[in-house]
Amino acid sequence: KNTIDQIAAGEVVERPASVVKELVENAIDSGATAITVEIKGGGIDMIRVTDNGSGIEKSEIRKAFKRHATSKLKSIDDLFKIHSLGFRGEALSSISSVAQVDLITKTREDLVGIRYSISGGEEVCFEEIGAPDGTSLIVRNLFFNTPARKKFLKTPQTEASYIGDVMEHLALDNPTISFHYINNRDDKFNTSGNGDLKEIIYRIYGRDVSLNLVPINVTERGVTLEGYLGEPSINRSNRNFEIFFVNGRYVKDKIVSKALEEGYKQYLMMHKFPFAVLHIRMDPAMVDVNVHPAKLEVRFDNQTALYEMIRSNVENTLRNREM
Ligand code: ADP
Ligand code: MG
Repeated sequence: KNTIDQIAAGEVVERPASVVKELVENAIDSGATAITVEIKGGGIDMIRVTDNGSGIEKSEIRKAFKRHATSKLKSIDDLFKIHSLGFRGEALSSISSVAQVDLITKTREDLVGIRYSISGGEEVCFEEIGAPDGTSLIVRNLFFNTPARKKFLKTPQTEASYIGDVMEHLALDNPTISFHYINNRDDKFNTSGNGDLKEIIYRIYGRDVSLNLVPINVTERGVTLEGYLGEPSINRSNRNFEIFFVNGRYVKDKIVSKALEEGYKQYLMMHKFPFAVLHIRMDPAMVDVNVHPAKLEVRFDNQTALYEMIRSNVENTLRNREM
């Protein structure tokens, strides 16, 4: 069983950043309004995700760490209309098979919480403990029992930068959740959860960027584009600041990038790229965001129409920005 879990872990848990993403998505699914993420040593030494969500019932805890133990998939139909982010029931089992995991959780209805520890897939402890409502998951020594995979990791600094990206995207994608991100005792950012995307951009990217944002909000033929375009003057030397969400999922997509850059064409210098945070929303039937659950790919039904819709609206929004 352990071997199968460790192999499955390779699918879900590629590196510390994927652990952070899975744990935060679970926290979001649990209805949390405040999520704190703290990492040490690039997340290889420690990742702690604390939320104020539903908590896990005592009788459900062990089950949650079994493979395909999702509480979110009620029928096969759900696969085609997935609202919650996680639905594969593999994250906790995978993570706990390749790390030392400590869970402290309490539901609102229960008077005491539970502390559950599992290391390399083996239960270490299950005891009652005083705890606030919600869940705190600590993952230590990632890949301690799979040295081959551990060797594949980059330096703690690089792994931390991947986690930083994941945290930024999660915060930008969930304006009504308050996120606090700490790296080696260093407060990276804190968002208020008041729903204001512009404020989140300010908290993450600072004053220079946030003072020079052009709002965009259009709907055409069932596709909505909403977010902020950076003034062409705050251009960047790489594409890391072209941030797209499709139906609430962070994606990297060449067609959307190209459309954005073409919309900026008359303003940008060669080899410069825009800053933009764009939420793209459309009928889920028009897009496949689950090409691979752990990847950032997306497949659109009508690429040409989408490209032109984005390009022309970015161009118009920039042209009209002074008016
Ligand atoms: P999935 O998210 O696909 O259901 P996971 O392995 O990520 O699978 O989680 C297993 C189960 O554990 C979830 O279905 C959920 O019931 C429970 N769970 C995990 N994290 C949390 C959390 N932070 N708060 C409440 N329940 C959680
Ligand atoms: Mg999950």
